[in-house]
Amino acid sequence: MKVFHGKSVFSGTAIGTIRVYKKGEQQVKRIRIEDTESEIKRYRKATQAAQGQLKKLYEKAVKEVGEANAAIFEIHQVMLEDGDYQDSIENMICTQNVNAEYAVAQTADNFARMFSAMEDEYMRERAADVKDISERLLTVLHGVDETNMHTASPAIIVADDLAPSETVQLNKDMVLSFVTVHGSLNSHTAILARTMGIPALVCAPLPLDETIDGKYAAVDGTNGVIYVDPDKETLERMRKKKEEEKKRAELLLTLKGKENITLDGHKIMLYANIGSMKDLAAVLENDAGGIGLFRSEFIYLENDRFPTEEEQFAIYRFVAQTMAGKRVIIRTLDIGADKSCDYFQLEKEENPAMGLRAIRICLTRPEIFKTQLRALYRASAFGKIAIMYPMITSLEEIRKIKEIAAQVKDELESQGIRYNEPEQGIMIETPAAVMISDLLAEEVDFFSIGTNDLTQYTLAVDRQNMALDEFYDPHHPAVLRMISMVVDHAHKAGIWAGICGELGSDTSLTKEFLAMGVDELSVSPGSILPIRQIVLQTDAGAYRAGLEAGCYRNKDTQ
Ligand code: PEP
Ligand code: MG
Repeated sequence: MKVFHGKSVFSGTAIGTIRVYKKGEQQVKRIRIEDTESEIKRYRKATQAAQGQLKKLYEKAVKEVGEANAAIFEIHQVMLEDGDYQDSIENMICTQNVNAEYAVAQTADNFARMFSAMEDEYMRERAADVKDISERLLTVLHGVDETNMHTASPAIIVADDLAPSETVQLNKDMVLSFVTVHGSLNSHTAILARTMGIPALVCAPLPLDETIDGKYAAVDGTNGVIYVDPDKETLERMRKKKEEEKKRAELLLTLKGKENITLDGHKIMLYANIGSMKDLAAVLENDAGGIGLFRSEFIYLENDRFPTEEEQFAIYRFVAQTMAGKRVIIRTLDIGADKSCDYFQLEKEENPAMGLRAIRICLTRPEIFKTQLRALYRASAFGKIAIMYPMITSLEEIRKIKEIAAQVKDELESQGIRYNEPEQGIMIETPAAVMISDLLAEEVDFFSIGTNDLTQYTLAVDRQNMALDEFYDPHHPAVLRMISMVVDHAHKAGIWAGICGELGSDTSLTKEFLAMGVDELSVSPGSILPIRQIVLQTDAGAYRAGLEAGCYRNKDTQ
């Protein structure tokens, strides 16, 4: 048995025969061309043919993985027609008297190198796309059929790397898993794999030769391992794992696509919390109704300098487009306390959890705030973005936020930049915000209760201090009463209220939240279906009556 470790793109177990996939080597020779005009015509014809292929791929992908994930093939169509890309190829043909294949290959190299050197992650990812479209052109120019990845029987596909266009061509029924030697977890290929629900690994250092081709193997997508020629014991363990996964999946499958509605007709929104674009696949996979909390500060934490407006815009737009019209609540940066960032050059504080953090930084350093708001407003033109502000304690803060947002909108308008009017919400995570939530509710479109901080500030227990774990009790009646109060105030003002702190995924409280009338729970993607299961089995009205009669443990909340 040989064991190879990689990075997991999608969990799950696959057992079967390996098929090593090698791309048709595109040997590109430099040939001197006298009739450059005809060569340019040949290149343009190839572009048209490639466009036709991409159009078909797009239609296939829309059916199989949805519009948002198919968008990459539209992007490829646009890239093929990109003026700089085309000029580079045609100029090379004309000025260097070279064949179209050579000009395409050279241009692909130059552009891919240029994209790879960019700081913006989104742009860096485009390097793979430039290579992909150029390979497509080369295939057409060579007069070869499109890469054929059909297998006669289901197999584990092992490849050096897979382009998005190759991944989408995989016949799902014939592919048990795919494992690549290279490839990024953030690539569109990875996103497509997750959406398709195929166990997959990248960065697994397998030899792409006869030593593995045709061999029996087991892929453990959860732990990122592939066992080639597994021994009896490993095979048995993997078979059991697969059986358990099947049972679990069957159970969850029955809940997918169902409305989150209680027995007595109370509907609730079940959204997902994410920290980066990487989490989007899990969001889709678990049937989230939207994103209830995108912790945007992680974009800042991953950098060693302020992320630019363009970098942020690319990320927010991508998330909005991927969610294809579903609500995406992006929280403005919540830096400070445990989430410290050197380049903000904040003074060292005695008590950082109660210090200069979150909205306080934004309001005292509006230039940072404005950059983020500009990116958010611009991205709002590409989906249903809502903006949420953390650590609110006063009406004055809301007034200042609105002033800055108005300036940002004026600027965008004067520059002719499109935006939509994103909903404006606030986190309720300080006792002050709870106590004036009736007033705050008049100023915003929604509330999201941050029970992690609300617990720490209400109980005066540092959430970072492990020694205080036994005192950190989000089930404390004070916290639960606050949640109930916030929901009531929200409803009186005609807005909705949700929970995005960890308590939202505590299934021992789901019935109670429903009884309180909580409108939304935003939880880690994997918690969505288990909560849906409880929602479907709950009679919220009866549970509320039981609470009022003191039947349940948390009667103190009423
Ligand atoms: C919270 O405080 O409950 C919350 C959701 O925000 P964070 O955990 O990021 O502080
Ligand atoms: Mg918080």
